[in-house]
Amino acid sequence: SARRKHRPVLVIGLGRFGVAVARSLTRMGHEVMAIDTDPACIQAMCDELTQAVEADATEPETLRRLGAAEFETAVVGIGSNLEASVLTVLALSDLGVPKICAKAINEAHARILERTGATVIVQPEARMGERVAHVIGANLIDFIQFDDDFAIAKMRAPDDFAGRTLEETGIRTQHGITVVGIKRPQQDFVYAVPDTEVRKDDLLIVSGPTTKVERFAALSS
Ligand code: ADP
Repeated sequence: SARRKHRPVLVIGLGRFGVAVARSLTRMGHEVMAIDTDPACIQAMCDELTQAVEADATEPETLRRLGAAEFETAVVGIGSNLEASVLTVLALSDLGVPKICAKAINEAHARILERTGATVIVQPEARMGERVAHVIGANLIDFIQFDDDFAIAKMRAPDDFAGRTLEETGIRTQHGITVVGIKRPQQDFVYAVPDTEVRKDDLLIVSGPTTKVERFAALSS
């Protein structure tokens, strides 16, 4: 529903990550309340957000007073201060906030956050590193990996695909990969069907198990 779509979100920690989250949510039409201990961060963002409060989010009483328990979703963008990150997630969890998304700086941090009550844990640096490695090392233009060993990638069509339909290339039967869309130079992406013909310089959006996508990209490089 529209209400659900524009539900207010609590963002704690206005570092680079938290600011990006808060700005995107605002652009999508959500109300955003932000909390940070740093007055300069609050000052810089207060005009853009519904509410920006200078406060210490590790204090349960402070969070309660600010109405944190009323939020369905909170995002904790505190990263390098491990203690503050964990205490904040714990306090939100104790207040009964159902969806708590938290940023972790490494695997150990992620495991602690999971035990503390975070429902979604992101590791932006680790994920972006993997993505850059695939873009640089595997002939992919872009690469997104999902939790369950499934990936979507953008790549240049292999040269020997030119002039053949997708069905004729055997990409699905031989490589276990599905082509989702194709982009011709200077044209928009179109959905791919079995008799879509591949031409030289086409871009493909492919999806499949991560290892198969990697293997296919290596073959065609
Ligand atoms: P980065 O994500 O760049 O590593 P930090 O992890 O240090 O940055 O923190 C992100 C933001 O979280 C900073 O703006 C910092 O002021 C804020 N922050 C740190 N501790 C708290 C806290 N206890 N309560 C609220 N905000 C905090």
